[in-house]
Amino acid sequence: MANLLWIQAVCCGGETASLLNSDHPHLPAALRTLGATLLGHGYFHDQDTGRAEQVIEECASGKRHVDLLAVEGAVHPQAPDGSAWASAKPLAEWIRAIAQVADCTVAIGTCASFGGVMACGRNPLRATGLQFHRDQKGGLLGASFRSKMGVPVVNVPGCPAHPDWIIGTLWALRANRLDEADLDRFNRPRVFYGKLAHHACPRNEYYEFKASAAAYSQQGCLFENLGCKGTLCESDCNERLWLARTGSCTRGGFPCLSCTSPLFPDGFTPFFKTAKIGGIPTSLPLDVPKAWYVGISGLSKLACPERLRRNAVSFKPVWAGNQESNEDGPQNDRL
Ligand code: SF4
Ligand code: SF4
Repeated sequence: MANLLWIQAVCCGGETASLLNSDHPHLPAALRTLGATLLGHGYFHDQDTGRAEQVIEECASGKRHVDLLAVEGAVHPQAPDGSAWASAKPLAEWIRAIAQVADCTVAIGTCASFGGVMACGRNPLRATGLQFHRDQKGGLLGASFRSKMGVPVVNVPGCPAHPDWIIGTLWALRANRLDEADLDRFNRPRVFYGKLAHHACPRNEYYEFKASAAAYSQQGCLFENLGCKGTLCESDCNERLWLARTGSCTRGGFPCLSCTSPLFPDGFTPFFKTAKIGGIPTSLPLDVPKAWYVGISGLSKLACPERLRRNAVSFKPVWAGNQESNEDGPQNDRL
């Protein structure tokens, strides 16, 4: 059996909550497939072994071998004591020590990967990620860190990370099927972060014709007016789907906030409206050159079919040829 040590640093617990939502496989099956024993995690009452403080000390001293070190939450090295127990050593120092002896280290969530919510704004706590601070290499362990397996910290960002991203990454490391070549420029596994959240969004047809929603709950694309960052955000959220494989942010009518990106959250504000200059969004899609976007978006609007133009600002489908309009919202919705 492999030892999986999961440490909660400065976090909200969202990554653990997401892991508990794993459905395919569910968590006990995932741990069996991993061949892993979970050490010292207070939430997993029937799964873990040992009390966190004792386990961490034994792991740092080498008394217990750590095959997989998973860290949830940012670290702040300057804090006098970031730990949950009475220890003279800050939690960041324990993490640094265990990362040196663990076979591999994984940062779960955007805070552990890049600092995330904990490192945004003025960052008075000087919070940081394990091997990145925002979009710059460094963080707690430094740019040159490599685990005993020879890989850098593998980042699995997301606010929270999808349970498949977590389990799939741990499994690939355990099976020796993930190395540095499989990671992108922010050390994220390409298999999960090689696409855009925009890909497979059901609003793609609206996006192509720049048929945009003007208010939430309307059917059009959320990019032009309502702050969607799906075209900027590297994740497979609209292909993999969440919560029993049923939804995603944009499927639920909510804009993508680009939560897997190193500069999330404050690099992607405002969240719910689109910043524009001269009517053109200031943040354009990652995979389209700006000149093309500006030229093509005007033409797309001109070519937009009537069906999409009407449906984009409608709360329910208005079928082609149906002259009944529900553009004024649900109270006027006769379909
Ligand atoms: S709502 Fe967002 S993710 Fe969906 S098509 Fe529009 S820009 Fe893309
Ligand atoms: S759609 Fe965007 S904001 Fe929502 S979980 Fe995916 S990456 Fe994060």
